[in-house]
Amino acid sequence: MKPEIKNLTLPELEAELHEMGEPKFRAAQIYTWLHRGAPDFSAMTNLPLSLREKLADRWEITAPQVVRKLVSELDGTIKYLWRLRDGNCVETVLMRYHHGNTVCISSEVGCPMGCAFCASTIGGLVRRLSAGEMLDEVLFTQLDSGLEISNIVLMGIGEPLDNYDNVLRFLELVNSPEGMNIGMRHISLSTCGIVPRIRELAESKLQLTLSVSLHAPEDSIRNTIMPVNRRWNVEELLDACRDYFQATGRRISFEYAMIRGVNDSVDDAKLLIRRLRGLAAHVNLIPLNHVDESPLEPSDRETVLRFQKQLEDNGVPCTIRRTLGSDIDASCGQLRRKYQEKTGE
Ligand code: SAH
Repeated sequence: MKPEIKNLTLPELEAELHEMGEPKFRAAQIYTWLHRGAPDFSAMTNLPLSLREKLADRWEITAPQVVRKLVSELDGTIKYLWRLRDGNCVETVLMRYHHGNTVCISSEVGCPMGCAFCASTIGGLVRRLSAGEMLDEVLFTQLDSGLEISNIVLMGIGEPLDNYDNVLRFLELVNSPEGMNIGMRHISLSTCGIVPRIRELAESKLQLTLSVSLHAPEDSIRNTIMPVNRRWNVEELLDACRDYFQATGRRISFEYAMIRGVNDSVDDAKLLIRRLRGLAAHVNLIPLNHVDESPLEPSDRETVLRFQKQLEDNGVPCTIRRTLGSDIDASCGQLRRKYQEKTGE
């Protein structure tokens, strides 16, 4: 397979064109075409035909195919299942909020992290996505839906910090003024807690929002639902979060999936409050989405509300995530799994 041209940043494309003996402005023309979703080089009508042919010999323009598109009748959430150039599938979800359209993208095909409640990790990691493939998720969701995207969350299938270099390159692409120009403050990245990468990300000083999937206040619980905790425990994770906040000035948002009888007691909340003291944290409670392959069940509504109140009363800002697209299996990994089961892929 030819290399994917959309992986290149504008300066890299300029260098390539320079090597081919082409003027610099050609790179900007090509970059603009690519970031508007041009499906092939022949569409680039302001380039000489001979150059279009040379480009096509050398590179491929990726364009994912829609395998499934589900639109929620409840709230207009759209879920795409895309087929990538090697036949693998990933999911993207478009959510319509008052503050703008937000796209939730996948960073890997499958996931190596093994969280007990998560559908994305059941078949393990198949492969990591390229920067261009992640850009395609945003670009082609916008093109297909006709809805302008203003925010991105890296909360789909995969662990973004397990695909660190490609994710950082993707951020550079999607943020570029000559491309989609989506500001870092409109981007959130969620991680299960790969501590050395959180530290590395802090050094990059990017102004994105970091979300950390905490889901438990202490090791005895977290070890049982998140294998990553046996490598980097709660204390190491929260230390890295403290340093991240110091280095970037950006508040961290902690995700906490409410699992019945596992992490939702009054004592769990008490421990969590103690753990998060001094962290300028915000907690986002997620009522667990039921996954067929898992015995874990969501906490009931009263328990979630009581947990939230306990945190708020103790000075920890806490919101409950609104459920969108519940009629279309919008939570990550479920559509891909069902499709795989049905087709045997
Ligand atoms: N790998 C990243 C991003 C993936 S998913 C991470 O772990 O943060 C985004 C969020 O959904 C994470 O907080 C994840 O733990 C959570 N999640 C996964 N499966 C879930 C489920 N069945 N119910 C509720 N939240 C879930």
